[in-house]
Amino acid sequence: MTVGRPVTVDSATIVGWITGFAAAVSSERDTLTALDAAIGDADHGASLDRGLRAVTAKLAESTPDSPGDVCNLVGRTLISTVGGASGPLYGTALREIGKAIGPSPTVDAPVLAAALRAGLAGIQRLGGAQPGDKTMVDAYLPAVDALDAALAAGAALPEATAAAAAAASTGARATIPLQARKGRASYLGARSVGHQDPGATSMSLIFTALAHVTASTPD
Ligand code: ADP
Ligand code: MG
Repeated sequence: MTVGRPVTVDSATIVGWITGFAAAVSSERDTLTALDAAIGDADHGASLDRGLRAVTAKLAESTPDSPGDVCNLVGRTLISTVGGASGPLYGTALREIGKAIGPSPTVDAPVLAAALRAGLAGIQRLGGAQPGDKTMVDAYLPAVDALDAALAAGAALPEATAAAAAAASTGARATIPLQARKGRASYLGARSVGHQDPGATSMSLIFTALAHVTASTPD
């Protein structure tokens, strides 16, 4: 079990999470775009980076007081600035996470885990993807499963989010042999096999960012 400062998830934590995600997407922008060039239209890194720059600019202007409102703002901004499939999907996830968190000024681990699962449900409702369809769901679902399993086993939030990040990254890599059944990559049929899904890859970055921001730092 992780020892260290107890982690309080407040609006600053959520801002740190999304800012960390934005930084990761910015540095992985060309990699994400190259993955999308192989099985899509080569815009995933660029579009997500553009949307997240708009998000960080908004958050720098003024930060909502509650974690739920921060998530709502992030979701709305992604929906309005990112075209294609991933903007509405990420945006819906963040809005659902915000709605599930509600107005409380701080969030504990079980509420955060349930909110993340509500975000996944939002993505699946909007996009209709099932596990194994070679989409962002293939990173998101194992991540929330690992988070829940770790919390149920008594892990603290930093350990649980680290387990979620590892599971998301494994899930993203596991999309390589899959054939795409949703989104633009599905137009390629069997030719989508052998490439890692770009959306699953960016999804692993958001879970890595969550693990970083919730990691307890020794005093
Ligand atoms: P577009 O395909 O419109 O160019 P992006 O390139 O930004 O959008 O995002 C592509 C990613 O979106 C895919 O790699 C996949 O992970 C995800 N995606 C596409 N369609 C769906 C869907 N129906 N459900 C879940 N994820 C999807
Ligand atoms: Mg694309």
